[in-house]
Amino acid sequence: MERQDCAGSSSQGPPQGRGGTQPRGIKQLPRFDAGVMETYLDDMRDMKAKVYQMFREHPELLPNVEEGLSKEEHRELVRRSLKVILQAGYSPLDFLARDPRKYFYLGECLSMVDLSLMVKSGVQYSLWGGSVLNLGSEAHRRRYYDDIAQLRLPGCFAMTELKHGSNVAALQTEAVLDVLSDEWVVHTPDEGAIKWWIGNAAEDGRAATVFARLKVPDPNGGPKLVDHGVHAFVVPIRDANGSTLPGVEIRDCGYKVGLNGIDNGAIRFTHVRVPRGNLLDRFASVDKSGRYSSPLTSQARRFAATLGELTGGRVGLVAGSVGVLKGAVTIAVRYACLRQQFGPPDCPEVAIIDYQSTQLRLMPILATAYGLHFARGLLTDKYVDMKRTREPRLVEEVHALSAGLKAYTTSYTQAALSTCREACGGHGYAAVNRLGALRSDHDIFQTFEGDNTVLLQQVSAMLLKEYRQQFSGAPLTATYHYLRAALLGALPNNPLVTHDTEPRHLRDPAFLAKALEYRTARMLFTLSLRLRKAGPRLGAFHAWNKCLTHVLDLANAYVESVVYKTFLRAVEGCVDPECRRALKAMSDLFALRLIEGDMMFRNDEYIAPSKAKAISRLVVSLCSELRGVALPLVDAFAIPDHILRAPIGLGGSGGTGPQPDIYKEYLHAAGFEV
Ligand SMILES: Cc1cc2nc3c(=O)[nH]c(=O)nc-3n(C[C@H](O)[C@H](O)[C@H](O)COP(=O)(O)OP(=O)(O)OC[C@H]3O[C@@H](n4cnc5c(N)ncnc54)[C@H](O)[C@@H]3O)c2cc1C
Repeated sequence: MERQDCAGSSSQGPPQGRGGTQPRGIKQLPRFDAGVMETYLDDMRDMKAKVYQMFREHPELLPNVEEGLSKEEHRELVRRSLKVILQAGYSPLDFLARDPRKYFYLGECLSMVDLSLMVKSGVQYSLWGGSVLNLGSEAHRRRYYDDIAQLRLPGCFAMTELKHGSNVAALQTEAVLDVLSDEWVVHTPDEGAIKWWIGNAAEDGRAATVFARLKVPDPNGGPKLVDHGVHAFVVPIRDANGSTLPGVEIRDCGYKVGLNGIDNGAIRFTHVRVPRGNLLDRFASVDKSGRYSSPLTSQARRFAATLGELTGGRVGLVAGSVGVLKGAVTIAVRYACLRQQFGPPDCPEVAIIDYQSTQLRLMPILATAYGLHFARGLLTDKYVDMKRTREPRLVEEVHALSAGLKAYTTSYTQAALSTCREACGGHGYAAVNRLGALRSDHDIFQTFEGDNTVLLQQVSAMLLKEYRQQFSGAPLTATYHYLRAALLGALPNNPLVTHDTEPRHLRDPAFLAKALEYRTARMLFTLSLRLRKAGPRLGAFHAWNKCLTHVLDLANAYVESVVYKTFLRAVEGCVDPECRRALKAMSDLFALRLIEGDMMFRNDEYIAPSKAKAISRLVVSLCSELRGVALPLVDAFAIPDHILRAPIGLGGSGGTGPQPDIYKEYLHAAGFEV
């Protein structure tokens, strides 16, 4: 008779090395070399190694959350770090202008160093620098480029106002042309129009790209000014000594929930004069006589083109958020492999990662971190192509993808930070282990550069636009019948398929990809119908609002489908068989969790109840398989201990090395002599 032992069964041996033992009797994924996986994930790791080495040489630049830095101290640290990065030969603005892949990669690296540093760098180079580069003319670029790149001209991106954030078209700050002096007069008409939350404004900024309503005298001689809508202007706000310029009043927004290394400020302008040439005039210009001209025919198109140029900021946030997700799951997985609680009688306690509930918490996060890593790569590549070709279709695609991925990734990471904290129990709550600080710092990623709820609506609006264009001119009933037939065709109405519970079928990429596509197509179809039905009765605005949760679900479904397809391509592209099997298991888990969590598949009889149960069982078993390779999977993210800085998440000398004594580190961090 087989002997039952402490590992729970009698089958093959558990994996060795770090991570304790894994209960026997479950399928194992083959071990793989974390270095090989890292090489597959990351073709710029030399740069990462150098950037992280820089912070090894300057440990004083890494904020220590336990020291309780004041905002002034933290801001100073960030300022010094920005200079050190430049002195080391990394020019983020050059990267942004010439090789954006490097720019976004640097952002991801910095995210686990200090999110304040990553965001402050984004404000200076991507928001302030990027707005001048992308919205200005060659003359603006020549005038400002070097000073922005070399930090001689710290600047701001001043869009949001006290009373208007998401609704940018309703901003009230105005820039009125004074034809006689050939100047813009920039003015805050009331308190509601004070620029608010402006990064780099409270202490450092010397100039700002200010978004204001462009107003010129009526060319027909009428008494009223003509309002051409929101445009961008360069407005100096401080002199070389750091004193605010006449007419500029700046206040500090004070302590925030996180990101206190950034000096967010509020700015009020009182009839501040700047030369006419300070209009960033890529999409519209105004001549000396006050005549306004633009190659784009409508205010809406100009506005869309202006905002469209700002997608780079969102790509940067996706990169930073993916960096945080990798860091958080690294801490949680490593700790869960070492932390032990309970166990069978007369046996050692088991590692908490061997609890099914921990696996179900952490393995989907690990799988999603990989999926979003690849999706981030897709977005970056498309962004680079868009900048190179300026092809209108690509511009629209990148706009939708950057909006959707920014919203999806940052919301996902924020929720995952809480899950990781909970998975680490009480020690996850210690500030020194960083999950709390990351959660506070990252939270606002969901709001700035476009609130997630608002961005998701833009994604769905674009999907609907595309869908309508496809069927434009066709009578409604014909469109309806066509799509209904197409959707029914996509249904696996063969009962053998809807009831197929074989893992081979459930893990077949064709089944998974089609299921996620079906979900998106169905949501698009039904949303379109609902809007058409409600529109005439309620008007477009209220009809949209009535369908808002549907709108948001559609956008998320679309993003998830894109992430899965990208993940799948990454699995197919991996030549190392062991790594490929781990990637395949994670991509399966990613898609199956989505199908498991969406009642629509059941309601539509896309999957029979028996198949739904089989999917749930498979999810549990995949989580358990992945637990066996969870350590090399997080090691492949290659975040060194001096950057991760969480005593409970230390990786020691790598996947096969000795177990790091996390408690010793932790005791030491708390001040005990050990
Ligand atoms: C730390 C920090 C740094 C920032 N840095 C800058 C900066 O450098 N420059 C700059 O210009 N701005 C900056 N901002 C401002 C930021 O971009 C805005 O806060 C953001 O755009 C959201 O606008 P809001 O705060 O007005 O929120 P609101 O638009 O008022 O949103 C409030 C709530 O209403 C919901 N809501 C709004 N509209 C809709 C809708 N149509 N449908 C459904 N729900 C809706 C939102 O989802 C949200 O939950 C910063 C903000 C912070 C906190």
